[in-house]
Amino acid sequence: TARIIDGKAAAADLRARVGDAAAAFEAKAGRKAGLAVVLVGEDPASAVYVRSKGKATVAAGMASFEHRLDADVAEADLLALVDRLNADPAVDGILVQLPLPKHIRESVVIERIVPEKDVDGFHPVNAGRLATGLEGFVPCTPLGCLMLLKTELGDLTGKDAVVIGRSNIVGKPMAALLTRASATVTIAHSRTKDLAGHVARADIVVAAVGIAQFVKGEWLKPGATVIDVGINRTDTGLVGDVDFDSAASVAAAITPVPGGVGPMTIAVLLRNTLVAAYRNADVAFDEDSL
Ligand code: NAD
Repeated sequence: TARIIDGKAAAADLRARVGDAAAAFEAKAGRKAGLAVVLVGEDPASAVYVRSKGKATVAAGMASFEHRLDADVAEADLLALVDRLNADPAVDGILVQLPLPKHIRESVVIERIVPEKDVDGFHPVNAGRLATGLEGFVPCTPLGCLMLLKTELGDLTGKDAVVIGRSNIVGKPMAALLTRASATVTIAHSRTKDLAGHVARADIVVAAVGIAQFVKGEWLKPGATVIDVGINRTDTGLVGDVDFDSAASVAAAITPVPGGVGPMTIAVLLRNTLVAAYRNADVAFDEDSL
């Protein structure tokens, strides 16, 4: 049966390295690296995410600035806050927790964040930089998946990869990262014909679909490496987008849910914030060390 890829351990490792680099940043720059997180409204899941991001930021030796706005805040007021954070030299990274209330246009808010502080990597300029091979910021979840894959497989050159899902947050940047790592990438989505046939050829399968236990072990090539991005709440608890039991009997390695991709996301957010701090302060830093 498959090796279980321990995302919790990998995330703890990355957080420790970020912590060391954050202390070194403070010594060189004379201030802490800072992350501002903006939460609009009372969505309970979003509130949990924002709290754990804040805690993790402080635990890594960085400054956390939390801003909570009422659910009925005017879009203009949210944009004014983004403008203040853009101009604040203590703030290296800005994250506006999604989803936003319906009366606020997410794309307008995301585009208001200066790309140099867009540590979520959602700004179209950063998406374009990723697509064209320029230095920018890469969305945290797919970058965490790539780190797990490189630790598991080493060089990804020439591997056949299937990414299931084409969202701007996960699927598309995941495919771009795998392409940059010289894998041969297929992007599957809701209109794909013969998904099982595509998956059957893949050395690497990344599932970011949002449907509980959707990918079946019978579809997989024996020895494949499976990254399950899905987080689905069911009566029996959290499950991924992959049918874990059947997949684990065919794959060589697989991420569990929970304890796989999830913990990497926040660790990469801390990494991106620290990288932003070094870039914004113009202090030399080997980004590959993270
Ligand atoms: P999304 O809903 O934006 O995108 C889902 C994608 O799946 C779409 O591109 C769609 O084309 C594709 N899809 C839907 N039905 C399909 C089908 N029958 N066959 C093939 N493809 C199909 O979701 P998202 O934001 O990309 O998130 C995907 C999953 O990952 C969700 O479960 C989400 O909760 C989870 N997620 C986890 C983390 C984390 O930190 N671990 C972060 C982001 C998202």
